[in-house]
Amino acid sequence: MKDKAYFEIRLESLGGLGANLCGKMLGELGVKYLGLNGAAFSSYGSEKRGSPVSSFIRWCDGDKEILINSPVREPDILGIFQENILMKYPWPDILEMPRKMVINTQKNAEALIQNYPWLSGEIYYLDGISIAMRTKSRINMIMLGAMMKALEDEDIVKGQNRESRDFMSCGRKLIEETVGKKYPDLLEINQNGFMAGYEMVRQFRGKGNGGIIPEGHQEKLIWGYENAPIGGINPLAGSMASNDLSPSRSGYMPLFDESKCIHCGLCDSTCPDMVFQFKKGTYKGKEQMMNRGLDYHYCKGCLRCVSVCPVNALVVGVEAEHPDPQWFVPDKDLVASNIHWTQKASDGWITGESYMSERRNDGGVR
Ligand code: SF4
Ligand code: SF4
Repeated sequence: MKDKAYFEIRLESLGGLGANLCGKMLGELGVKYLGLNGAAFSSYGSEKRGSPVSSFIRWCDGDKEILINSPVREPDILGIFQENILMKYPWPDILEMPRKMVINTQKNAEALIQNYPWLSGEIYYLDGISIAMRTKSRINMIMLGAMMKALEDEDIVKGQNRESRDFMSCGRKLIEETVGKKYPDLLEINQNGFMAGYEMVRQFRGKGNGGIIPEGHQEKLIWGYENAPIGGINPLAGSMASNDLSPSRSGYMPLFDESKCIHCGLCDSTCPDMVFQFKKGTYKGKEQMMNRGLDYHYCKGCLRCVSVCPVNALVVGVEAEHPDPQWFVPDKDLVASNIHWTQKASDGWITGESYMSERRNDGGVR
């Protein structure tokens, strides 16, 4: 390791995108192919698709030991598996903006700068969803390819030229050893996804104030065990209310035509999640529950509802062509869209009405 004791990587993702496996493979890359010592582990809450996942990778020189096993808080490279993470979550224990970020996004460089002017350092970006649709592989292999590109010009290993390291070949061998052994049928598409990630990742330099975590993304510990209000839902990472299954979709979504709907409820019975929003209404002169639309936060894109709908009120659509569907009806009980992570971290909450009076400002977190 050239300048510091450890070279550290952190992946921020959502359950279902395969960040855990990607982290393990990066750990192995260091040990098997770079002559380093390595450690990799992940942290996640409920093991549900859409819930937040962080993966931590730490490398050090092969003649040294890794003496810590805490989360990586100052990563040299940060991988963001889903662009929403940039805005939605506070970055709870990242102390400063990393030198490099690899972002899966459908935006181009101009749009990223416009939307996230605080991005700084080297930004690698790629449209992982489109690549996954084209290659039929998964986001983790595509991100692994992009991470390899970001690693290429890093001075990681003593006495080793950058040019002498062939990350593309190392990655391919890693995939063969992991995916190839377990799922030989899937080897080729995973290799294709990996190579496409490596080749299609683009780069620009962020214009933000280097190193500084932007306002609103820093963790602010205001409530602790002594002063946290009683009741409400914890809207923090891992809470059901924060789940967003959109990254589980593979580019397709159900489209809803309310004018055709006969409100039979078959879609709701079939859907494995709580997507459909039925409310009281009048249909053909009769009072009954009526399908008002879908809360896409919870839609994993399995398209079972499309198969079951008897009148084609639900059809398959390409998600990129419907960025803002009018039938996107947020579930008011879970108010996922209202949380939006704009101002609060551990002191954020969702509540009915009674809890404000419970709040005390003494005690708890110091
Ligand atoms: S299955 Fe089709 S017709 Fe029945 S409620 Fe759902 S969308 Fe409407
Ligand atoms: S595709 Fe349909 S059935 Fe599947 S999760 Fe989405 S709304 Fe539910």
